[in-house]
Amino acid sequence: MVRGELLFDGNVKQVYATDDPEMVLFHFKDVATAFNNVKKAVFPNKGIVDNKISSYIFEYLKRNGVSTHYVEMVNDREQLCRKICIIPLELVVRNYIAGSIADKLGIEDGTKAQTVIYDLYYNNDALGDPMINDSEAVAIGLVSFKDLEIIYSTARKINGLLLDLFGRAGIKLVDLKLEFGKTSGGEIIVSDEISPDTCRFWDSATDNRLDKDRFRLDLGNIVASYEVVLDRLESLNLE
Ligand code: UDP
Repeated sequence: MVRGELLFDGNVKQVYATDDPEMVLFHFKDVATAFNNVKKAVFPNKGIVDNKISSYIFEYLKRNGVSTHYVEMVNDREQLCRKICIIPLELVVRNYIAGSIADKLGIEDGTKAQTVIYDLYYNNDALGDPMINDSEAVAIGLVSFKDLEIIYSTARKINGLLLDLFGRAGIKLVDLKLEFGKTSGGEIIVSDEISPDTCRFWDSATDNRLDKDRFRLDLGNIVASYEVVLDRLESLNLE
């Protein structure tokens, strides 16, 4: 596989073309951003840990029958992924109430949700990523209702699989954010990353935060906390 031109230079990741038109290379930088990129800082090795955790999770999902854009981890900082057409939606799945929704609903951070919450957002920087409902998303041509059925059922399956995985690792899966894309053949698959940058992970015993809230809330020990997540996953010794 030969690395080609830089297709996208994001805050946290770069995407490169490869010699296979169906494949791209994701490169993880050592950067954390928060609050729509208002807050930004460099943390040595963060990109390596993110890449390893996201690769671990995508491998686990693949073994359990979930299609994602991930093909393989190429090196410490890079993954080979299928090229997809991104659907500009973010689906947040919440098992516990935390972050913005705790303020919105006036509920204490860390309260268990009595049913899993699915919150859909329109990924649009100029608009500040507003919440969007299903019929709005279909009405402006982002997806079809059939696409949304696939997106929600995939999210439900992923949440179940990850609750089980992280439960065994002694970590509460508070919430996670998923993005999806369409392959050239029209299949809807999971894209982007699943990592402490895109999920809330709390230690089951202490509720210690092991995710990007350490950066958002200035709690320190960001990379060390991400490494705890990686170590716990790797010590599960799944085949
Ligand atoms: N999230 C993300 N990207 C975003 C917004 C949220 O990865 O652009 C993740 C976030 O890390 C958390 C979950 O989605 O794990 C829910 O975030 P929430 O909507 O509660 O936003 P916040 O409270 O962080 O403003």
